[in-house]
Amino acid sequence: MKSWAEVAIPPLDSSFFFPPLSLWDTARGGSFPLVDKDLYRLYVCGITPYDATHLGHAATYLTFDLVNRYLRARGSQVRFVQNITDIDDPLLERADRDGVDWRVLAQSQIDLFRGDMVNLHILPPDHYIGVVEAMQLVTDSIATLNERGTAYSVDNDLYFQVHSDGAFGSRSHYSQGKMLEIFSERGGDPNRIGKRDPLDALLWLGHKDGEPSWPSSFGEGRPGWHIECCAIALHYLAPESDASTSIDIQGGGSDLIFPHHEMSAAQAKILQGREFASHYVHAGMIGLDGVKMSKSLGNLVFVSKLVASGVDPMAIRWALMESHYSVDRSWSDSLLSDSIAWIERFRRALSMMEVAPTSSVVEEVIEAQADNLDTARALNALKKWIVVCESGATGGQAGELSRAMDAILGLAL
Ligand code: ZN
Repeated sequence: MKSWAEVAIPPLDSSFFFPPLSLWDTARGGSFPLVDKDLYRLYVCGITPYDATHLGHAATYLTFDLVNRYLRARGSQVRFVQNITDIDDPLLERADRDGVDWRVLAQSQIDLFRGDMVNLHILPPDHYIGVVEAMQLVTDSIATLNERGTAYSVDNDLYFQVHSDGAFGSRSHYSQGKMLEIFSERGGDPNRIGKRDPLDALLWLGHKDGEPSWPSSFGEGRPGWHIECCAIALHYLAPESDASTSIDIQGGGSDLIFPHHEMSAAQAKILQGREFASHYVHAGMIGLDGVKMSKSLGNLVFVSKLVASGVDPMAIRWALMESHYSVDRSWSDSLLSDSIAWIERFRRALSMMEVAPTSSVVEEVIEAQADNLDTARALNALKKWIVVCESGATGGQAGELSRAMDAILGLAL
């Protein structure tokens, strides 16, 4: 599928030193540096196109954009792949409720999402892949899991035996009770009669009347969610055959830790015989005025609506960087208005004839980002610089700071 428009990254002064990027890995429960590489493989789970793009999505894609930007600024290449779950129960249910064709609904939401990503200055993926266009890859992967004896049928559906991966559970670290609870909440079917283990994951859903379906060697139907990402990531990121893990980073919101990322990683492990990712990285959820943002509560805040009302997308970026990516955060009007004010002051400071010294700010921002993307610390360094600038300090180069903040934080003013 067409990705979105290229976002230019300004060149940086080569005198800046970029330490290795340390990122929190959910599987190991700690922050660890990424090993030095010329090429990193980054996979970020994409949207199901029926409610794009609310601030929770924006926060997640911003997080991995900061990873992408840091690694590139350090001189590495990043192969970045993202999927679109353009066939799934919630999409079909929403299309049915609204009386529109599911393909039309998906296309309209994907178009909206692309526009939001461009506005937010998110670097586009090298491969932006819809499940429908990747159906052959998905069915091939399911066939391989089946050949390896890790799948079984219940009526017309096919399930993956999660415990065929001896490391199942090691990325999410939830108790059996917690896994069962979350699995039920997020579309799983632990109580289905005929399943060998309540947590076994749906690989292929046999055709039902009135639903779209695709042919496969195991009958007409459509894929389960987890195998889609696994198949797309392994194909388009093209792992090196001798690496210890298939990819470097599996990313997404913290609501994907279980079951989605655990299941995808387990399936990928069977397909490739090694751990899926070196780092499993998760962005926290965004609430509104202290209440969890959710479709059911009807309190989603959409990027496109904010931008249409005249909000500078850079202020949205700034606001989302005010606190750490990994924690659950709250959005509010005051956070947005403060961020708008800072962006205005930053823009004004950069346009002054003389500005305060800039190299030390860039160095502090780099150091903060290298430490598990400590954006709050990075923005504090910028705020201090703005204040000093406003007091009339001199000796810096506005262009140097402007280019660095664009390249590293994606703040294009
Ligand atoms: Zn995914």
